[in-house]
Amino acid sequence: MLNTYIEINLSNLKKNFMSIRSRAAGKKILAVVKADAYGHGMAECAKALVSLKKNSPDYFGVAMLQEGIELRESGVLLTPLLCFAPMQIPDAEEYIKHNIMPTLSDEISAEKLLKKKLKSTLKIHLNIDTGMGLTGIQHYNAYEIIKSLSVKKNVKIEGIYTIFATADKKDKSFAAIQMERFNSLLKKLKENGINPGIVHAANSAAVLNLKGVYFDMVRTGSSLYGFYPSKEVPKSVKLLPVMSLFSYISVVKRLKKGESVGFGRAFIAKKETTIATIPIGYADGFKRLLSNNFKAIIKGKFYSQIGNVSMDRIAFNAGNDKILQGEKVVLLGKEKNAEISVWDWAEKANSIPYEITCTMGQRIPRVYKG
Ligand SMILES: *Cc1c(COP(=O)(O)O)cnc(C)c1O
Repeated sequence: MLNTYIEINLSNLKKNFMSIRSRAAGKKILAVVKADAYGHGMAECAKALVSLKKNSPDYFGVAMLQEGIELRESGVLLTPLLCFAPMQIPDAEEYIKHNIMPTLSDEISAEKLLKKKLKSTLKIHLNIDTGMGLTGIQHYNAYEIIKSLSVKKNVKIEGIYTIFATADKKDKSFAAIQMERFNSLLKKLKENGINPGIVHAANSAAVLNLKGVYFDMVRTGSSLYGFYPSKEVPKSVKLLPVMSLFSYISVVKRLKKGESVGFGRAFIAKKETTIATIPIGYADGFKRLLSNNFKAIIKGKFYSQIGNVSMDRIAFNAGNDKILQGEKVVLLGKEKNAEISVWDWAEKANSIPYEITCTMGQRIPRVYKG
């Protein structure tokens, strides 16, 4: 079957992880595998990283309890696992059962947790809002809450963290304000003999872009998957692409002058031309915004996508070139000297690389190598 497929280069994933390891030498590394490892396949990526043995991640991170349960059920049992989702107190026993640490992220839940009777120990991390403004206990409310929780039976504070809102920006002034707030809370805890456990703040952007923010652990996602979080961060660590996307030409046809391509007739042949279609569409994450605005590589040469992207199909204009049914098409990745990066996709789709890889359709099979 000549289907569209995604190739995941696990050896590049491991190399990227090791590059982050050396950048954050001596720190713990939490490998973020939420959202199916940003579309790369959670279980496979996590297992590849676990295979690094003594270098393997100190923690994994997911965004939802259900993702954490899936990771545990896939056989990744030993690595500590943190769930970033704001903990809902009725889920407490579920977290304990699956050996997943929740994040306590708001004052109301903290009150509920303080009142809750727990049968066994619940290990938690605390998310402190120092300026993100989405979730997290406000930094100015945090001390009293942590103090009460620190003596609560069957609750163990394993860690404390904050999230940068602008770590990927050249302008570091707001990140500095967030650090000041976080550090002053940490100082107060220390002065009062309260141990908040593992302290962490840095995402990939902070690892690449900011100094003095690594604390005990860094939490990296994008950098492991081989893309820089923004155009403003220095490429202070060399990252290798992990995801490629290939397809095969399913139909080749010759159009006469004036004939059109696809729904809405968004391409009309100005002269006789050959067009080639491949089986991928917006249902697979090939965004409709890319209509008439994308180039793919066939035999080392770029060809323009034409017409509106449909749900399952797109077309390319091959002009008078000899293009054959079954020929391989590179949509993301490299062939000879031609390359299409996830940043190329993002810029054309008015998006960011995160969204591009995360929304690569689940119907496209992933093939793992390395
Ligand atoms: C997703 C996420 C990360 C990873 O961010 P990257 O920019 O991909 O490195 C880190 N921390 C938290 C809390 C997250 O939700």
